[in-house]
Amino acid sequence: MNIREEYIKAGKIASEVRDSLRKDNLLGKRLLDVCKIVEERIKQKGAKPAFPCNICLNEIAAHYTPSPKDTTVIKEGDVVKIDIGVQVDGFIADTAITLGYNSNYDLLILATEKALKKALKVVRNEVKISDIGRAVESTALIYNFKPISNLSGHSIEQYIIHAGKSIPNVWVPSTQTLKKGEICAIEPFLTTKEGAGSVKDAEYGNIYALIARKRLKDKRLNDLIEILWENFKTLPFTPRWLLKYYDDYDEVSSLILQLFKSKVVRAYPILKEAKGGIVAQAEHTIALTEEGCIILTE
Ligand code: MN
Ligand code: MN
Repeated sequence: MNIREEYIKAGKIASEVRDSLRKDNLLGKRLLDVCKIVEERIKQKGAKPAFPCNICLNEIAAHYTPSPKDTTVIKEGDVVKIDIGVQVDGFIADTAITLGYNSNYDLLILATEKALKKALKVVRNEVKISDIGRAVESTALIYNFKPISNLSGHSIEQYIIHAGKSIPNVWVPSTQTLKKGEICAIEPFLTTKEGAGSVKDAEYGNIYALIARKRLKDKRLNDLIEILWENFKTLPFTPRWLLKYYDDYDEVSSLILQLFKSKVVRAYPILKEAKGGIVAQAEHTIALTEEGCIILTE
């Protein structure tokens, strides 16, 4: 079965950029600079970020990207999740790694990678999503860790990062299956037994996405809506990406806030472990075929 060449290209670039980070020493680097490096490497390889590089420390599980004012630095003791999205004409590859600068969590990171491997082993045409969840959950339990039960993988379609199907990280009573032709991200998140095994919404971060392309009364807002549509369609973006159109970060932030209040864009809350447990993540994007599954981001 043929997989679109755009998916193959996006997957290759995403995995190259991800693996390049393993060779970098990120200690002492600002989160902002790491994100800029990731996004720049994606562009150098001839693709675009499918969403702002997410860089989440310790108990933050997902949806954090720094603003230009963020001076946070990666330091000894941190567990750093870096989640990378690459798109080629809207065809998306989504992959993540956890880098540990704290040996107390080496096993957590290893178990998360094992859980992803285990999950990928059960994926085939017509696999039940509950079997994928069970594979993640049972691997976590073997190591005495907890899967994050309210974070899941997802199906992917052109320009749609979460295309409808959720792929759980725990066993769920569902008969839903994955089928040949589908593109999916599988992404276990694990925490320690001190954690709740779930995330809760924290404050809004710096990640947004266009939900409606409607006209408003303010020309500046309408111009911004067109910029968002032209550049990102319905994919997530961050205000720091718009600085080439606006002189000032506060200006663009306030315009986006107005779009949020007008329900033209959605905002993603930062997701934190509910009891402050340290979280690790691993993620691959796969293409399901008649013969099995192809890992696009291997
Ligand atoms: Mn991801
Ligand atoms: Mn994902």
